[in-house]
Amino acid sequence: MAARKAAAAEEVVARPETGTALGRGSAFQGVEGQAGAVRILQAALGHDRVSHAYLFVGPHGVGRELVARRLAAALLCTGRTPGMAPHEVCGGCGACARVDRGLHPDVHVCIPEAEAVRRGTLAWDEDRKPSQDIKVEQVRQLRDDLRMTAFEGGWRVAILPLAERLRVEAANALLKTLEEPLPRSLLVLCAPDRGAVLETLRSRCQRVAFSPLPEELLARLLVARRALPFEQALAVAREAEGSMGRALLGEAAEAGETWEAAGAWLADLERATPSELLSRAEALEKDRDALDRLVRALARLALRRAEEAVPAARTDGAVALRARLLAEVAAGALELRGELTRPGANARLNLERFMLRARAQLQGFTNSSMNS
Ligand SMILES: [Zn+2]
Repeated sequence: MAARKAAAAEEVVARPETGTALGRGSAFQGVEGQAGAVRILQAALGHDRVSHAYLFVGPHGVGRELVARRLAAALLCTGRTPGMAPHEVCGGCGACARVDRGLHPDVHVCIPEAEAVRRGTLAWDEDRKPSQDIKVEQVRQLRDDLRMTAFEGGWRVAILPLAERLRVEAANALLKTLEEPLPRSLLVLCAPDRGAVLETLRSRCQRVAFSPLPEELLARLLVARRALPFEQALAVAREAEGSMGRALLGEAAEAGETWEAAGAWLADLERATPSELLSRAEALEKDRDALDRLVRALARLALRRAEEAVPAARTDGAVALRARLLAEVAAGALELRGELTRPGANARLNLERFMLRARAQLQGFTNSSMNS
């Protein structure tokens, strides 16, 4: 029962967060910040040399799945007219519409149950928790699907947006498909790095690299999509580490505020008196979720400031020392984050200890450099 539900869910895929509706023109229209990957795939389509298996390597939420589905659209569009390039689609035929809406019977997207639940494509009422991994039964089903004659007479495409969730048994089942590629079948695996997929699998795939989206681009996209003020969008973009998917998630939506709060906190650590810091700890302790986000943002901010200081630190000893201290504060913040999640942890005590130590590091430095 669960397997059938999971299989049904694979056929319906929510539009990836970076997508725009598919219209006439390049199949890769609306794909932002992935010119290199798009160029490789356009050339493959142009020379009729589409590989039977690709490994899209790059962070989550930068458009890997969208590009995979657009590649499928280019292969499956039935409304192409003479003069159109092989990477172009008509945008108006049934195949284009079905691929775009994630409903094409020859495009199979294989994701773990938990991901299908998250996307809202799988209702869950089992006693057990939905699996975080791709199950071997799912891969076998996928193999059978690829062996079947294409519904619409063209290519059959399988996309695994979370190929890093293949455990050994499932990966081995998939390997069989890769060892005996069928004509006009395409397999696209997406993974955050090459090492996330078994060597036997990745050696049979052509690798295409996807980049994190530049902060500026991400910020502009957020301004367009979420009507955020640019400054705030930029803060969210920083927190999202180049991933549009992350930037659009709830946690990152608060990141603009969190980032500002982390800036104020760091400034406090460099200026405030111990008693001011202790009352701050009391206030921070009250909302543990917000505290966790804030501590993480502080770690990242301190690290960023340290990194920014690197060029000057080569010639300026004081800058080098400050950079090192900021990196230590970042490490302390990450340690604090770990301590806060421990059951029975005394949040207040840990928080106070961290803040006083960070203060001593940063203010000790400021005072000594002013005296010298
Ligand atoms: Zn079409």
